[in-house]
Amino acid sequence: MLTVEEFEKSWQIIIDKYCLKDDAFMTRAYEVREMWAKAYCQKIFYARMCSTQRSECVNHMLKIYIVCKYSINAFVTQYTKLIDDRESCDAMAEKNSKQRSIKMQFGYLLEKHASIIYTPRVYSLFEMELVKSTKYILLPSSEDNMFEVMHVEAESRDAWRKVKYIIKVDENIGYYNCECGLYQHFGVICSHIIRILLIRGLSKIPDCHIMKRWNKKARAGTVRITGQTDFTENEEEARSVRHKMLYFDVVALVNQEGIDDTTCAIAKSNFMRCKKELVEHRLSRTTTCQIGHGNPS
Ligand SMILES: [Zn+2]
Repeated sequence: MLTVEEFEKSWQIIIDKYCLKDDAFMTRAYEVREMWAKAYCQKIFYARMCSTQRSECVNHMLKIYIVCKYSINAFVTQYTKLIDDRESCDAMAEKNSKQRSIKMQFGYLLEKHASIIYTPRVYSLFEMELVKSTKYILLPSSEDNMFEVMHVEAESRDAWRKVKYIIKVDENIGYYNCECGLYQHFGVICSHIIRILLIRGLSKIPDCHIMKRWNKKARAGTVRITGQTDFTENEEEARSVRHKMLYFDVVALVNQEGIDDTTCAIAKSNFMRCKKELVEHRLSRTTTCQIGHGNPS
């Protein structure tokens, strides 16, 4: 990831090389560089997304399922289907993630830990940083809790590329702050931090550097549906899932083709019976609770 210094140097090289000093577009773009250049947003977490990628993606998905002329009833049905399909995709990705075995390149304990905690996609990005980390050496540092690493092929790199990086460490929590800002921007530790962790002989990535969203257990605590049973640690989510399941069934029933007077009467009679059973069930639960309340035994 580019630092501000690298961005400024490389921009100047492009301007000079292609004689763009008086180009109106480039001048305007440079004036608002803090709005679009990644180097100026390195302290802000973006999960590797660019500009309006997230909202564009949501718009695209909505357009697949929903047409603007839909009635509100059809809209709700299709929207619920969209959410359900996304949850199925998540569940499938999670299943694949658990079944897929990850091949390590070096065999470091740190690498093994990353392969256990990260999803395959994030692990491949960690692995890229790990490979890059082999190109850095540790420089002597006079300050406590501060490290400096340098690229071993500094001479052969482009003139605008930074070759030395400073990493400050908060030993109390094990937090490594590198000036490249990759962790803050994306949530995966950079090659410079990995170099330091390996030199210090750490076998695990510090907890404060593991983002839950990149973890294999990121969905822990969320709702999973197996058959007619939902599992969750969160009662509010469980209630929402139960509500959705019932809603789907009712909407599917109402939207059935060929509903005449007889089928309508059958459905209505069953709805009434269901309603009566639910009232009786609630009543029996309330009675049981009241009998149990205040009983000294
Ligand atoms: Zn770094």
